[in-house]
Amino acid sequence: MARSNHVIVVGTGLAGLTATYELLQKKVSVTLLEKTNQFGGNSIKASSGINGVKTYQQTTLHNINDDSIDSFINDSIKSAKSLANKDLINILASNSKNAVDWLSKDLKIELNYVAQLGGHSHPRTHRGSNLPPGFAIISALKKYLENFDSINSNHNLNILKNSKVIELIKESNSNLNTNTNTNKIIGLKYLDLNSNKINSIYGPVILATGGFSADFDSEDSLLKQYRKDLLSLPSTNSAQTTGDGQKLALKVGAKLIHMDQVQIHPTGFIDIQDPLNKWKILAAEALRGVGGLLFNTQGDRFGNELLTRDKVTESIFKNFEQIGINQETDKKVLIILNESSYNKMKMNFDFYIKRGLLFKSSIRELNKQLGFSKENNKILKNLIQVNKYINGIEEDEFGRTVFSDEPFDLSQELDSSIYYGYLTPVVHFTMGGIKIDSNARVLTEDSNNHEVVLKGLYAIGEVSGGVHGANRLGGSSLLECVVFGKVAARSVSEYI
Ligand SMILES: Cc1cc2nc3c(=O)[nH]c(=O)nc-3n(C[C@H](O)[C@H](O)[C@H](O)COP(=O)(O)OP(=O)(O)OC[C@H]3O[C@@H](n4cnc5c(N)ncnc54)[C@H](O)[C@@H]3O)c2cc1C
Repeated sequence: MARSNHVIVVGTGLAGLTATYELLQKKVSVTLLEKTNQFGGNSIKASSGINGVKTYQQTTLHNINDDSIDSFINDSIKSAKSLANKDLINILASNSKNAVDWLSKDLKIELNYVAQLGGHSHPRTHRGSNLPPGFAIISALKKYLENFDSINSNHNLNILKNSKVIELIKESNSNLNTNTNTNKIIGLKYLDLNSNKINSIYGPVILATGGFSADFDSEDSLLKQYRKDLLSLPSTNSAQTTGDGQKLALKVGAKLIHMDQVQIHPTGFIDIQDPLNKWKILAAEALRGVGGLLFNTQGDRFGNELLTRDKVTESIFKNFEQIGINQETDKKVLIILNESSYNKMKMNFDFYIKRGLLFKSSIRELNKQLGFSKENNKILKNLIQVNKYINGIEEDEFGRTVFSDEPFDLSQELDSSIYYGYLTPVVHFTMGGIKIDSNARVLTEDSNNHEVVLKGLYAIGEVSGGVHGANRLGGSSLLECVVFGKVAARSVSEYI
């Protein structure tokens, strides 16, 4: 039976953990379910950071004072295109400072670096110097929740790992006078993967089950249903990202929105020892933010690397066509970086180098690997040209205005050192999902086809749709998890 003052949260990514944290602060008891045996979902992999405007880090540490909430809203609307939902974007941007403050002040996570990612008009994506942002954030929340002292609190936290939610329980009430049928969600059923038993628990439910960027093969695959054309691409997501929440919600009548809007990230690393592996490690957008340049395998740049992800991806596919690349195995581009970029992202570079994804070598060695003739100096020539943009001598032919802080050291000509790796576009993020209102409540239709709230059900993070429209800006997903995690906690605690 339903316990009073009790909420069920499904998923231990950043959205679920934020909602859980907030509910505990509000003295609400929480049952937190996770289908795998560990915390973190895709959130733990986040490598570029979280957006925030007018934060202490942005203004005081980096002296960036000309950014504003309006400017962030404009960038987000532009990126979301005709699918922009201004109400949701407004909530996202207006709460970004609070979100970063919460992480850095309350949870004491260092987020002192601020980078400018594609589609942003200002540097506003925060990360730390020692740990990747997703790992740092999830670790801090996990520590807090695992140490939460239920015994000395008058509310409790029950964490159930290896517990896969398989059904939402709906209560239906027909009102013959008004000819309406009101539904509400009163709990869920989950499969305990340890005992193989199905159990039920009762209470309002917050779905925080993530996206569907790894849902290639399941019987009811959402990628097959909505984006068949993407099935041959690799993915950056972990295998558990199979759209469970969207499927569960659909079965109880929730509306889904923008399900065909799937973000193809332009830069997944190709491991040259295992080039066809379906699961790729992301080349963080921050690599381009700190100066990374994209080249085709003929040694030419082909676009502004700091446009939004959809545009960079489009330019890569267009360039494949232009230079006649059709074979799946040949679909790769190069990222080239210099020492000054290395100094800004040492931790990430060292990780990629250790994994055999990024290499430090001379331009000559790279030319050899690309099969260039001895006379082919294209890469060197193009880097000399880029140095002119970095030094402000000429304007970039593709319109890029932000490069690495320092130029490439090309004093050794072909023997000069660079960092490089091979990249390919990857399925990365699903903008579509469960339709929500500005209180993170799930929307459905009543028997008169009017859009109404499906009581007792909330959706936050990547499982929800509509916040990012047609394209998500880098750094806005972690932000969405925090902002709407808090919104849902407030909203559900008013409901119970
Ligand atoms: C490699 C990579 C790098 C990224 N970098 C960034 C970045 O720098 N900045 C940024 O803003 N965004 C980034 N993103 C996107 C961002 O990390 C995710 O979109 C976001 O963290 C999603 O969080 P979430 O809490 O909604 O879902 P997730 O973190 O994916 O968590 C969902 C959880 O729900 C669980 N679950 C699913 N179904 C069930 C079920 N039926 N029962 C029980 N549990 C279930 C899953 O196992 C999982 O643990 C990145 C994504 C990837 C893959």
